[in-house]
Amino acid sequence: MLTISSLLQKERALQLAWARYRAYPQFEHFVEFSLLLNNCTDTLSQQSQTGLHHTCRQLEQQALALFGDENSHPIAEDTMQSLSGQIVRLGELLRRYCADGGEITEERRVRRKPDAVSATRVTGGAQQVFLIGEYSARWHDLATQLGYFDISARESGWEMPAPDHSGHGVYLLDVDEQPAGRWLPALQQLRERDPLARIVCLVKPNDFVVMNQALQAGADRCMAQSASLQQILSQVLAHQEAEEPESYRVLIVEDSRTAAHVINRALEERGMLTRTLYDPLQTLAVIRQFQPELILMDMHMPACTGVEVARVIRQHDEFLSIPIVYLSGETNIGLQVEALRLGGDQFLTKPFNPVLVNAVVKSKIDRYRALRHSMQNDSLTGLLNHISSQQALATALAGLRDGDGMAVAMLDIDHFKRVNDTHGHPVGDQVICSLAWLLKQRLRRSDIIGRYGGEEFVVGLVRTHASDAEEILDRIRSDFSRIPFYGADDNLFRTSFSVGVAVCAEGSPVKKDLKTLLEAADSALYQAKRHGRNRVMLSRY
Ligand code: GH3
Ligand code: MG
Ligand code: MG
Ligand code: MG
Repeated sequence: MLTISSLLQKERALQLAWARYRAYPQFEHFVEFSLLLNNCTDTLSQQSQTGLHHTCRQLEQQALALFGDENSHPIAEDTMQSLSGQIVRLGELLRRYCADGGEITEERRVRRKPDAVSATRVTGGAQQVFLIGEYSARWHDLATQLGYFDISARESGWEMPAPDHSGHGVYLLDVDEQPAGRWLPALQQLRERDPLARIVCLVKPNDFVVMNQALQAGADRCMAQSASLQQILSQVLAHQEAEEPESYRVLIVEDSRTAAHVINRALEERGMLTRTLYDPLQTLAVIRQFQPELILMDMHMPACTGVEVARVIRQHDEFLSIPIVYLSGETNIGLQVEALRLGGDQFLTKPFNPVLVNAVVKSKIDRYRALRHSMQNDSLTGLLNHISSQQALATALAGLRDGDGMAVAMLDIDHFKRVNDTHGHPVGDQVICSLAWLLKQRLRRSDIIGRYGGEEFVVGLVRTHASDAEEILDRIRSDFSRIPFYGADDNLFRTSFSVGVAVCAEGSPVKKDLKTLLEAADSALYQAKRHGRNRVMLSRY
């Protein structure tokens, strides 16, 4: 897990490496500097810090262009000056980000604290959204909707809003139908002034030129102007939700201790979590235990070849999609092709270029994560699907220590059939999404939230007492019932949901099994419906 202090260390190392190159402009010092810069760029891309990442990447591209030719060093004085200026600026931005970063983490923790029900509505320090462009009824509606998620929105026409000192604001620019001379300088100015913010541009659909201009000028995302309010809302909420990413887990299968050490160092320096295996015969056990997201495989080992190991791994359905990348001195193209045919994903040769290995490992793991996410999560809401939420609940229940309690709740939207019948299925979908967002926003990261079926959700609150669970869910219920939705003919309507809660009591001598808990929650939900809906009922069993 990346910490602010490790980012600060990276920043310092980068400045030192640059100072060293300036004093002794030799190629190897430039290589050192470029590797550190590449490392920083990667770290920032993992932090979903698109603005800062953009600045760092621009600098990295210039450095990597000077990386290949040993004879071009020392570089020309004017290039040196220009790079120096950019490095100083990057340093300032990184330090500012680190200073703000600690704050935002703390604020998120408060927002999700389980026992402080009153803290679920954070007002001070809540996120700020700036709406830039012609004033419209849509801006107004969006601002109203954001308000229900505790996010304040400010409209500012084409005037630049005052700088957002939290450094984590979101700017929405409506550039549709506007001449480039108006919005482009505004966008550039924003990006220059506030490199840490998220900038989303609303553009005419399929307008390649405008989209490209906006992205080049530093926009993080372009959306069609015709996007629904809900789609825009999801962009803003997704930014707010962004969590610190988990470290990439890489298993290195390599018989040479020297080679393993070098590979290991290159990956660990970039914040990856690694495990080295010298004896390939242990591979299956280690995969089960370490749960790698990618395997870096040597080709020639005494006990068997890397291809043989890959072939055995692929005999197991649960390991079919783990990416396997060969890292080997083998230069015979025929053997390389054979290795790929038998279950490998890519072939990299030794001696390896750490920048390239790092880039390949990360991009493969990102694809692997996306694939797993699409298998485990519901496509409409992004919540866990039925099967995965059951698995997550069972795992959490099994992991409870003596004295820990856990609450399981079933939620069901009231008279949802009417919403569909009156306003149509797409509006029904928006209602489902809004409830999903609200749950994600209000519950802790360690809690389990799943879409159990159509308009039914399941929630697992670990280490939570019955009365707290009841209070937390009742607060969410009450807030949800106040959110207005735009239905057919722009008619405003509100809706509600009912909840049944069952608790595996703390200190209980018998551990309740998941099936019993779910059944108890379900019958409490049935009671809530019978007693008039829009309420939370606790199972007494
Ligand atoms: P109750 O208060 O008793 O729960 O009434 P209800 O109308 O919500 O209950 P019922 O189970 O009869 O209806 C659920 C409806 O949810 C029926 C189904 O068409 C709708 N539904 C299920 N999945 C989806 C979905 O993904 N999107 C939309 N829009 N509707 C869905
Ligand atoms: Mg070997
Ligand atoms: Mg239902
Ligand atoms: Mg229902």
